[in-house]
This record gives sequence, C-alpha cells and structure tokens, in this order.
Amino acid sequence: MTKVRKVRHKHDLEVALDRLRDFEEPSEDLEQYRTPGDVAALILWDAYLRGDIDGATVVDLGCGTGILAYGSLLLGASTAICVDIDWSALNTARENLSTFRGMYDLVAGDVSTLPLRSSSNCVVVMNPPFGVKKRGADVVFLRSALQVCGKVYSIHKYSPGGVEVITRVAEEEGYLPLVVAEASMVIKQRLRHHRRRVHRFKVVLFRFVRTVQAEEEGDE
Ligand code: SAH
Repeated sequence: MTKVRKVRHKHDLEVALDRLRDFEEPSEDLEQYRTPGDVAALILWDAYLRGDIDGATVVDLGCGTGILAYGSLLLGASTAICVDIDWSALNTARENLSTFRGMYDLVAGDVSTLPLRSSSNCVVVMNPPFGVKKRGADVVFLRSALQVCGKVYSIHKYSPGGVEVITRVAEEEGYLPLVVAEASMVIKQRLRHHRRRVHRFKVVLFRFVRTVQAEEEGDE
C-alpha cells in the first residue's frame, strides 16, 4: 500500500518530520505554527512505546500540516483522520501525506462541532492552538478530543494555572491525566513586513486515558 519504510529510532522520526512542508501562509488568528520535529517525535514516540499507535485509528485535531498524522502512520497506525478548519492547511496536509494514499481522511470542520464519536482502538494525537489568540481554544479542543477517543495525547503551553485547568477538565470528563514529558518549543513566527521572530517557551505533553480503561491497564 505504501512504499514508506517504518522508522526504527526516534531520531529518524524527528528527521522525517522536519522535512515536511510548513504552512504556506500561516494565520496568526488560527495560531498556525507547525510543531517542531523534536517535540512531535517526543509525543509520538511515547505513544508508540505505550502501544497506542500500532494498528490504531489516529485522529489529529487541528492537523495543520498533518505532521502528527504523518508521524503516526510512519509508526504503524492503520488510518489517520485529519481535521482542520482551514482549507489551505488541509491542502498542505494532503501534500505531506501523499505517500500514505488510501490511509488517511481529511475533514474540513470546526472541532467544537465535530460529528465524530468514540470508536475502539482510536487515539487522538494533537497540538491544538494554545489559546493565546482565542482564550480557551485549547480547552475546547481538549473537550472535543475526549469525546472522540478513549486515549488522547496533546501538547499544551506551560503555565502553572494552565496545567491545573487541563488536569481538572480531563478529570471532570472521566479521564486520567498524565504528564509524559515537558519540552522547550521553538517556533519561528512570520510577522508582517516579512520579519521573523523566534519564540521559545515551555510545553507540557499530556496523555489522557478514560478512567475505566486506565484501571484495566493498571495505571492507577
Ligand atoms: N497540529 C498542527 C498544527 C498546529 S496549529 C501541527 O502540529 O503542525 C493549530 C491548528 O489548529 C491550525 O492548523 C488551525 O488552522 C487549527 N484550528 C484552529 N482553530 C480550529 C478549530 N476551531 N477547528 C479546527 N481546527 C482549528
């Protein structure tokens, strides 16, 4: 089906992800910035080692360039569903995912009104907007993700209050939150007049598992 060779090391994954196309015209309002390869590889590799990727249906909410879906398919996911509100981003995702023909679906839509519901062997892997431009956008994404799959991996901008909110929302929805890693993220922001600014900030990588499932896995 695909000629792509599976990656065997986290570093190979990182290199493959860094080669993907970036947003053509990133929208500041939609907080469009591509997850750097090292951070994307960190969360995907963790999910892979826990056995959450192989053979799974991966849902990438706010897929942007499709980097997380692409990495999941490289690691052996059976299908990826990529959702974004922006057509131009979906076009970039299509180009990036072209080697995986027949293994992914692109869905144009708003995650807050997503008609997707949970299925078995499904996992959300996402890097949602951080809620800087539109306050609370990260929580809207999280609530939607928790409706879609029993397992969710998500990247959030670090702040002590932010981590508390994310943890509380997950618990309210019946999920066990776990911080799998913290990382420093560097993004190049394209501003008006073609100026570029480099931003460095801390992010927290979460794994959420529906409580019943977590008990079966013996997590707590
Ligand atoms: N996950 C991608 C992109 C992160 S940027 C990557 O790692 O490269 C956040 C993405 O969320 C953008 O592509 C933006 O278009 C999308 N987005 C923002 N608000 C949205 C909404 N309400 N519904 C669906 N997608 C949205």
